[in-house]
Amino acid sequence: LDALEYANSRQAFRGGKTEITDVKVIQKTLTFLGYRSRIIANPEMVVAKKEENSRDIEPQPPPDPSVLVRRPPVVTIMGHVDHGKTTLLDALRNTNVVAQEFGGITQHIGAFSVKMSSGNTISFLDTPGHAAFSHMRARGASLTDIIILVVAADDGLMPQTVESIQHAKSADVPLIVAINKMDKHTADVEGTEQMLLQYDVIPEKFGGDVQCVPISALKGTNLQQLQEAVITLAELMDLKGDPVGNVEGRVIESRLVTGKGKVATVIIERGTLKKGNLLIAGTSYAKVYFLSVINSLRLVAKREVSTLKCDVSCLTGRGIYSDKGSQLKEATLSSPVEVTGWKEFPSAGDQVLQAQSEKQIKEAIDWRNSLKMEEKMDTDQEAINEKREKHDAEYKKQLQLRQSLGRREYNFVLKTIKPNRAKEEEVHHEGPSLSIVLKGDVDGSIDAILNTLDTYKSQICRLSIIHHGVGEVAMSDIDNAKLFDGEIFAFNVPVSETVREHAKLNNVVIHEDNVIYKLFDNLVDSLSKRLPLRE
Ligand code: GDP
Repeated sequence: LDALEYANSRQAFRGGKTEITDVKVIQKTLTFLGYRSRIIANPEMVVAKKEENSRDIEPQPPPDPSVLVRRPPVVTIMGHVDHGKTTLLDALRNTNVVAQEFGGITQHIGAFSVKMSSGNTISFLDTPGHAAFSHMRARGASLTDIIILVVAADDGLMPQTVESIQHAKSADVPLIVAINKMDKHTADVEGTEQMLLQYDVIPEKFGGDVQCVPISALKGTNLQQLQEAVITLAELMDLKGDPVGNVEGRVIESRLVTGKGKVATVIIERGTLKKGNLLIAGTSYAKVYFLSVINSLRLVAKREVSTLKCDVSCLTGRGIYSDKGSQLKEATLSSPVEVTGWKEFPSAGDQVLQAQSEKQIKEAIDWRNSLKMEEKMDTDQEAINEKREKHDAEYKKQLQLRQSLGRREYNFVLKTIKPNRAKEEEVHHEGPSLSIVLKGDVDGSIDAILNTLDTYKSQICRLSIIHHGVGEVAMSDIDNAKLFDGEIFAFNVPVSETVREHAKLNNVVIHEDNVIYKLFDNLVDSLSKRLPLRE
């Protein structure tokens, strides 16, 4: 309001109109007053906010190469359904020996890490499948360093296997192939490796660079080799990160945990997360009081079994560490950690950034909220435009349809009246007519009905078939029928509630029959109803 008044007065002062209609003038004035402003799609709206009160966290400069250190790889498991992704994840989790003592603890919390006897660590994202991976990628997060492609040796390459290969290629993430279910007597490891060649995945055996490890996720066979393959590849990739910069990370998932509140699984991508750090993700923030790395099944060994409730988040909770005084002081690169104390749920894929002060958090959240609001206003306007465009397109389509159907109908009429050429004149008069859409369960029944309809020669009431086909009655059938003031004849096919509703709204009659002669009875009725009433 201030800005408007100010702009008005200046305009008035210059002898212009007192009413400001030019958004540019408003914007200029706003800038003068120290606001950042933006025109929202609709030119009557300008959003503005004062610069100094909100500001996002500044991106930090890239790290100095001299500070970089080796970091563990982050691995995602992909593959066709039922090829053993979940079993493999569970097996890998359980290679942390202690877990087995507590019995299958397999709660999925987004990520976990495995420490090998060699001292190497691997972080696994534990949401198997494509949804998670695509979701992350869509949000610009390329967290995954290596993909383990699980292929069942008794099934070979299947559609989702190929899809995974394509995912890996387009994301430029290297693959390791775990040829699973080698314990089965139907397993064909060799054949499976051969099949990979078709998709340009060349196993080492054939001179390529893709490691293939035959495993049995179920029996736990060769899991060690699989992990070693991951480490070998990671060393080759020379994965490095900056342990000293401000903390940056990614939210893998967030959830509510009784007693701990809003908890997020975060993977550290830069810096070292310490107690007392302030974090911001999306429009949420947290102060890190308790930190626990999620490979904790190993750490938990120190704890009495009796209090464990077979719940990983409980195992990794503050209680355990504070009791023993062994709570983690910091979390390093690539570690999946559980961070408690979020004010709102951060979303999976959100970037996590470290803030220097509560004030900086407040400013950044103000900024992000106002951006969100602007986006919402934009999308509202976009939604309106989209609706309008859709409406226009629909109208155009209907028009075209009407024209094309008109031609088709004309052809049909010409065809059916051929034997009665003498009567052609009569036919083209604007007499009573009935147009129908015929839908049936199988080709056979449609053919039978069409054959009978072909014998219909009466010109008292013309009959046109606008459309016929196999399948249930669709919305478009109703639209077609409506255009010609027609009726629907459904033979042995279901009519959904939505379609029925649509028909009712458009005054389109649907006849449903499952006996052919009844269909014809109804048809004759409908034809008769089109005739003018006798005086
Ligand atoms: P996902 O859909 O890829 O997660 O597959 P699952 O892990 O759910 O496994 C599908 C089925 O294959 C389950 O019945 C598993 O027990 C079985 N399975 C998984 N790995 C192996 C294996 O190494 N050997 C055998 N024989 N069966 C397995």
